[in-house]
Amino acid sequence: MTDNKLSRRAFLAATTTTALTGAACSLFIKPTSPGVVFIVIDTLRADRLDAKLHNLPVMPGLHALADNAVCCAEAYVQETFTKPSVASMLTSLYPEVHGVRFGIFTPGDIDKSKDPQSMLHVDVLSRELPSLPTVLRQHGYATIGVQTNMQLHAHSGFANGFDQYHYLDNVSADVVSRKAISAIERVKEPFFLYIHYLDPHCPYTPPKEIIHTFGVPEKPSDKDLELLQNYNEYYWDLVRHGLGLSEERAIGRLGRKGRNFLKFMYDGEARFTDSEVAGLIASVRKRFPRSLIVVTSDHGEEFWEHGSIGHTKTAYRELAHVPLIFAAPGLAAANINAPVESIDITPTIAAYLDIPLESGWQGRNLIPLFTGTGRRKQKCVYTSAFGMQPWDKVKWRAVYDGEHRLVKNFSQMKTELFNIANDPYEKKSLAEKEPGRIEELTKALDAIIEANERHPLKQETVEKARVEEGTIESLKALGYLQ
Ligand SMILES: [Zn+2]
Repeated sequence: MTDNKLSRRAFLAATTTTALTGAACSLFIKPTSPGVVFIVIDTLRADRLDAKLHNLPVMPGLHALADNAVCCAEAYVQETFTKPSVASMLTSLYPEVHGVRFGIFTPGDIDKSKDPQSMLHVDVLSRELPSLPTVLRQHGYATIGVQTNMQLHAHSGFANGFDQYHYLDNVSADVVSRKAISAIERVKEPFFLYIHYLDPHCPYTPPKEIIHTFGVPEKPSDKDLELLQNYNEYYWDLVRHGLGLSEERAIGRLGRKGRNFLKFMYDGEARFTDSEVAGLIASVRKRFPRSLIVVTSDHGEEFWEHGSIGHTKTAYRELAHVPLIFAAPGLAAANINAPVESIDITPTIAAYLDIPLESGWQGRNLIPLFTGTGRRKQKCVYTSAFGMQPWDKVKWRAVYDGEHRLVKNFSQMKTELFNIANDPYEKKSLAEKEPGRIEELTKALDAIIEANERHPLKQETVEKARVEEGTIESLKALGYLQ
């Protein structure tokens, strides 16, 4: 049976036989297609789902959702930067194919003779590519986006396929949830609602009451406090170094207590988002009880596992590994340990809705994996990191086969290999001990690169759009611009 043919109907039939429960069966007969709520929580590491802080769960809402849903425990993004990552989710194409890599660049930085700071340009996602919203709209879905990340602004092509695309500048998760709920007030099924929360993205500033939930954070040392007070300077020093734009670090190192303080604040943002996402899901389910809810992130966040903080600068697992949850009535709860990737989300949603998959989509329909039906060869999943701007000296590629992860830093010609079960934070490379594995995974990586090169939808050139003046301050606030 092809992925295309194993649709929601077949999938539901499969789950009735494999997970037969009387209560759930009546929900399987549906006269029309359900709504789809696609939630992206920016910068959310996969390990926060089960994490505790001061003995309290960081994300109790998502944890409970995952317990009663299909939870993909080994989900990987295609790129550790928002823009290419979300483009891959929506188009089911690797970044090498959709071509959207760079968020912003200033021509003045390339050619100092021109220095028009206002001439900021961004890669534009092609309108020609079949994406989840464009395909769903063709099938009669009302399509609504609630967006908070400047990198995904309408002028970058991310509004393609949406009937409504609401951009909310610099707002917190409670405002996002309220907007999403009001946006579907007059909507009828079927609909597709994409909501992008930004709270766990730096700067980490959770509401005070959330911080108090976890108690008082350990007080940083005086030296740490000094660095934290000039956090922008400290952060940009790390970013410049991480992107290969400066050889040496200029600012001092943050000590253990200072680092723990930042982790504490990040967890506070995750906790706040968690309660707002839980509230949104409860509200949607009250009105549209059979909705398919999908939750994921566009990349993780590093906290000095490999010497830095933030994201975009490497392809290590703390940046590549994200939560991925599919929840719907009648969808039998399952924990999926096989590696999956962001490009699989679009074909899986389409298949669940009985919508034919586009021939160019590179991702897989994961429903056979969820139900244990059909034969499926395990696939290597792929992550890259190419920085935010063309001059960044960042070029990473990684593949994971479910046991070992090959991580290549092409800028420094460095190859590492990690056994993920034994070494989830990728601290001890086995590259010298296991040359056979390296060869095997390098072949898998080369095959992906080659397939991307000859893909019929490969965008040889990418349109550029000028960023509107008003967005520059927002980009600065997000840390994308100095
Ligand atoms: Zn992001």
